Amino acid sequence: MIVPFSPPDINEDDVESVAEVLRSGWITTGPKTAEFEEALAAYCAAERVKCLSSATAALELSLRLFGIGEGDEVLTSPMSFAASANVILHVGAKPVFADLDEGSFLISAKEIEKKLSARSRAVIAVDYGGMLCDYSTIYELLKVCGFDGGGSSRYLNELSRPLLLADSAHALGSRSNKGESAGSLADMSAFSFHAVKNLTTAEGGALSFSGFDFLSADDIYKGLSLLSLHGQSKDALSKMKAGNWRYSIETAGYKANMTDIQAALGLSQLKRYDKTLAKRRRLCRLYDEHLRDDERILSYSESYDRLSAHLYPVRINGADEKQRDIIIEKMKERGVSVNVHFIPLPMQPLYRRLGYSVEDCPNAFAMYENLVTLPLFSKMTDDELEYTSTSLKSVLDSLGV
Ligand SMILES: *Cc1c(COP(=O)(O)O)cnc(C)c1O
Repeated sequence: MIVPFSPPDINEDDVESVAEVLRSGWITTGPKTAEFEEALAAYCAAERVKCLSSATAALELSLRLFGIGEGDEVLTSPMSFAASANVILHVGAKPVFADLDEGSFLISAKEIEKKLSARSRAVIAVDYGGMLCDYSTIYELLKVCGFDGGGSSRYLNELSRPLLLADSAHALGSRSNKGESAGSLADMSAFSFHAVKNLTTAEGGALSFSGFDFLSADDIYKGLSLLSLHGQSKDALSKMKAGNWRYSIETAGYKANMTDIQAALGLSQLKRYDKTLAKRRRLCRLYDEHLRDDERILSYSESYDRLSAHLYPVRINGADEKQRDIIIEKMKERGVSVNVHFIPLPMQPLYRRLGYSVEDCPNAFAMYENLVTLPLFSKMTDDELEYTSTSLKSVLDSLGV
């Protein structure tokens, strides 16, 4: 049997929705994008949403909107995709990795407290696999961290604490144990609709936010529109209207808008997202049932039922990095694609060259060295899941783990 890792779930409704936009005569940012933004804001209980070309763009533009750059430090998790830290480099600031809590995939509030300095301007917390970070504790820390003002950043001076960003690339649909939605827990939250994510627009992302007392959600939206479309005072659709030709360039903005083709796919996917989540959560429970009795396999103990169930990570008790790599190879021989989410960022050549070392994040390394992420996708069959589970057990038997 061949089990892929995470193929996209595209149905005929999706195809029809995209075809409809292609036939409509309007294919770039326009009415579909606006509709998707409203639907997402309602879905994640945020005042507004700005759709963009990726979660990477969403994170980077948030930092830029708040004037974060050279000389500033931004804290993030070592257990993430490169995007979470690369955007900090893009704006010229310095990434500071705060380790995970022991035995957890999430950034530790205690480690954040240790790493906060007078130059800290933001924290990018990562909702690994859709598990939600402890935002209320992180907020409390940021309020009392001895923030020395935001330098030349007007918004940070008003905020008078570092900005709290959520990398919620995995977390659309997750809820906290108090019932709050991912997308409403941090100052701004970035979602990804990349092809491997739970809800896809092929490539794409969104930023959700609510207003501050010194800055309305509408003004944040306007700021993001300028930053994502060359600093143009008007979007393409309003420029198209008869007689409405004049525009001005206000700032050297980037090019990171979403197209209506993407938004149509996203809207179609969002319509059935509750069903998608139900399927993913059920698959996680099924994995739990298959793997629970095997002491060699440590699964994540929290219930998946209020999470987006984006990943199903397991750790192989007592295995080291080398054994784990062999396990992955043997799974491949049996036709099962598994993965590792993630190689801690300080281990990557780029960050090593910049002087980082994973020795400063021992908890992240401990999670990584025996980590295997199992296939999980909404069209996965029970047979595929059972085959994956029995294959993992046989591989461990054959290696005498
Ligand atoms: C996928 C991913 C991103 C980047 O998303 P893009 O939309 O591809 O930019 C960021 N953070 C995490 C944790 C991710 O898995």
